[in-house]
Amino acid sequence: MSVPFSQMWTVARYVTAQKLRGRQRYPLVLMLEPLFRCNLTCAGCGKIQYPPHILKRQLSVAECLRAAEECGAPMVSIPGGEPLLHPEIDAIVRGLIKQKRYVYLCTNALLLAKNLHRFVPSKYLTFSVHLDGLQREHDSAVCREGTYAAALAAVQEAVRRGYRVTTNTTLFEGADPVAVRAFFDAMMDAGVEGMMLSPGYSYEKAPDQEHFLGRARTRRLFNHILSNRRRRWRFNQSPLFLEFLMGRRSYACTPWGMPTYNIFGWQKPCYLLQDGYAETFQELLTSTAWEQYGTESGNPRCANCMVHSGYEASAVHDTFSSLAGMWATIRATFFSRGYPDPAALEALQRPPESGRRFVGVQISAPRRASAPRGEPDPAPASHEAAAEPVADAAGR
Ligand code: SF4
Repeated sequence: MSVPFSQMWTVARYVTAQKLRGRQRYPLVLMLEPLFRCNLTCAGCGKIQYPPHILKRQLSVAECLRAAEECGAPMVSIPGGEPLLHPEIDAIVRGLIKQKRYVYLCTNALLLAKNLHRFVPSKYLTFSVHLDGLQREHDSAVCREGTYAAALAAVQEAVRRGYRVTTNTTLFEGADPVAVRAFFDAMMDAGVEGMMLSPGYSYEKAPDQEHFLGRARTRRLFNHILSNRRRRWRFNQSPLFLEFLMGRRSYACTPWGMPTYNIFGWQKPCYLLQDGYAETFQELLTSTAWEQYGTESGNPRCANCMVHSGYEASAVHDTFSSLAGMWATIRATFFSRGYPDPAALEALQRPPESGRRFVGVQISAPRRASAPRGEPDPAPASHEAAAEPVADAAGR
């Protein structure tokens, strides 16, 4: 368990208060995208392929703080683009901390070391460093050699200076479980507080059986990786969500649990899909046809999805919904004994499976129903195009 007690307590109080108020839909983590610019050009990235006039735009400090107040989530994740390219990112973080929100600043860490002086170590601030594996896997994934080494050096420097540091990793079908487990060891050696995992996002025009197999493959991959767990590994996310990835429990999607706000407004319905935008968070809640989303809805774009932005809030909700959910969380945290599984252990001896790769969470550029606020669609607007199996330099 790596989430500090004060943060767990804040989340527990918040979720309990929402339940006592009878709120059916409440946000847990605000996904705040202050800009889409980035200093990397990962193959297929749907963010950096926006036209230049969109890439130049960014949210102001006031807009970011207002969105956080409006939504009320106790945690704020700041992805991008690369947030450290925002000239006022330090002021945004300070303002969010002043509101007593737990901030996860997601970064590729290439600019982290030289920007550390702009931030004060705090229990409210975590640098969440994007690393998709060890050197070979990560440099390949981001299409630039030397990125892993630079990010690792920044991680170690931030840890040395007393900042909270986690990693966030997107795993794709075809990932080698042995290499992923070696990556976990390396991150623990580097001193990170915990690791976050999510499968890539896949949407392919395929028959239902194919969709089913997609989810089954995801579960098998995570079961091989997360069974027979080493005691030293720490994960900065819900243990029930990890069990969901391993196929030990099932959840419905909770897309409102991690709402996205960016320069276009509140994105419908989730971080991955762009079916229009709402002006206010309340409008997002009331005007989105939520029943049309999630695996059970039959929406083909949701058929293979198991990503953390859709399902981690479901796991947290489960924890606080009943004594059974609370007990399951306690058992997963303290009594799982590393999830022993001889079959998974044996699978680690075999060569990694090959096959189509998923399209990563951060690179999806789905079709939007209408261009927000008069803006044109981004260049890779066809979700279908972005989601076709691709063979690029990154192997994605
Ligand atoms: S299942 Fe995935 S793509 Fe569909 S609404 Fe949920 S998070 Fe979004």
